[in-house]
Amino acid sequence: MGDQKKAADKLYDIRRTILVVDDEEVNRELLKKYLRDDYELLFACNGLEALRICHENAGRIALIMLDLVMPVMDGYEFMEVARKEPDISLIPIIVTTVKDMEEDEIHALKLGASDFVTKPYSPEIMKLRVSRTISQVDSESIISRLERDTVTGLYSENFFFSYADRLKMEYPDVSWDVLCVDIENYHLVIDMYGKEEAENILRAIADILRDDMWKSGVGIACRSDSDLFFMILPHRNDYKTFLRKVFSSFESRPDIHHVILHFGIYQNIDREEHIEKTCDKVISTVYKTRGVSSLCITYYDKKMRDELMERQILIEELPSALRDKQFEVYYQPKCSLPDGKLVGAEALVRWNNPERGFMPPDSFIPLFEKNGQIYQVDKFVWEETCRQIREWIDKFGSCVPISVNISRTDVYDPKMPDVISEFVKKYDLDIKQLHLEITESAYMRDPSQLVKIVENLRNRSFVVEMDDFGSGYSSLNMIAGLPIDILKLDMRFLRDDRDDGKPKDSENNEKSVLLRSIMDIADWKKVPAIAEGVETKDQVGMLTDLKCGYGQGYFFSRPVPAREFEKFLENPERSLIPETEN
Ligand code: C2E
Ligand code: MG
Ligand code: MG
Repeated sequence: MGDQKKAADKLYDIRRTILVVDDEEVNRELLKKYLRDDYELLFACNGLEALRICHENAGRIALIMLDLVMPVMDGYEFMEVARKEPDISLIPIIVTTVKDMEEDEIHALKLGASDFVTKPYSPEIMKLRVSRTISQVDSESIISRLERDTVTGLYSENFFFSYADRLKMEYPDVSWDVLCVDIENYHLVIDMYGKEEAENILRAIADILRDDMWKSGVGIACRSDSDLFFMILPHRNDYKTFLRKVFSSFESRPDIHHVILHFGIYQNIDREEHIEKTCDKVISTVYKTRGVSSLCITYYDKKMRDELMERQILIEELPSALRDKQFEVYYQPKCSLPDGKLVGAEALVRWNNPERGFMPPDSFIPLFEKNGQIYQVDKFVWEETCRQIREWIDKFGSCVPISVNISRTDVYDPKMPDVISEFVKKYDLDIKQLHLEITESAYMRDPSQLVKIVENLRNRSFVVEMDDFGSGYSSLNMIAGLPIDILKLDMRFLRDDRDDGKPKDSENNEKSVLLRSIMDIADWKKVPAIAEGVETKDQVGMLTDLKCGYGQGYFFSRPVPAREFEKFLENPERSLIPETEN
């Protein structure tokens, strides 16, 4: 509503222009006298001249005062022509007639005149009719301005949503598809081609959508965000022709070569669902493929639908799951090599979901990392781990250091160091009892900022471990400047997952060369290294040869619930190497 008011205020700020069409000079002069204080005036002596002036002043004229009887082209003929011309047909016309010519008036109204005034003019009545007609048309055009996107002429988003929902109701037997078009990196397109050309590209897309809508009969489209389009149209199986047309029309314009379009298509949408939600789903499929330029078309299908639904449910369930204590922390031992003695543990979260059962972190952590909810989960794990360490110290007299994971999104939260420090204080722990694991990929986003955060944590005496080291994100340069205490080698270095036909020996060789260089880095930085994912005795041997001091993995123990972990704490000198392997 606020926007509508602003638009109206703006409109009434400007003086409106009236075109007076009359062959009699005296009439033109009279109208000039009555109207010039309030309006800008243009004059024509006949219909033909009026048409020319209308074309020259397209969009500027707010009203035409039209005499009916004129030479060259009279008022009737003018109206006949005008109503076929898109620019002119929208301008309201007040016909000026001579008193008691009722027939003329009826004829003129039939031809689309908005009103009439009789000559000789009564200035007051005439002015009232003029202002009433203009404001009536203005308010209609404000609505149409809000309804339409001014750049492309397509609907604006809000109107699209409400019309699309209405459309579904009006055609209950039709199955609908929703199509979404997104321009990759539109801001770069603006930088590259300039705003005007970028808008031309938007118009080109709008034209293609409009053209397609004509062919499909029903259907409407809108521009939503600056570079995002939605279209609802009757279901079709094949979008190839449509897409081919889009691509060829873009290829035919060498000036817009670097524009990458992404399409999301959701066929047979759920007609009960509010269209806004449907559109959200289509966008999320599009965003999935963003940046993968070879893959521009994504179908929103049943599998994706189920996946998204599942995700949505998890998001909604999280607060109550935290309240109901459905999350549980498991502990996985870290051992010294080669003797397998317990030196620490990693706290790893699990979700005991009443409906879905036991859920490993990979099934929900990435989702919560994306929407920021991970902070809630991590805070729970941090506190629960601190509480558990306190319980074990009280029970066993001491406890090995235990590490918690700090998600890549938490890392940049300025409150994070305080929050963790508070937990340590609350459970009266030595700060060295709680190690912090920060994944290597977190170092990518803003390395210099992260260095500051890690320095802050280390100044508080926290031990910081770099998790998943070697997963490929950091450059040597970056590593050199990183303040860390422990390197945790990515599991992939030990995993046997290559199937490239090369003899196993060469594969092992390659891996050990890589491992060796990573160990050199650890050595050079003078920090201990721990290998994740140790599963076999051979791996223990290889790591020992490479002077990797520590290991964590199924070979020693899977992550286990707190109660089970106690058996390691009860006998801290015992080796965790399975007896069968000794
Ligand atoms: P991560 O921090 O790198 O944790 C190590 C993962 O390797 C754990 O998976 C662990 O169970 C698994 N693992 C340990 N030994 C072996 C082995 O010998 N073989 C194999 N194949 N896997 C092994 P998990 O528990 O499924 O956790 C996966 C990831 O989820 C973790 O990777 C971590 O990034 C994240 N995560 C777990 N708990 C939390 C948490 O509380 N907060 C946050 N932010 N992330 C967590
Ligand atoms: Mg970890
Ligand atoms: Mg790891």
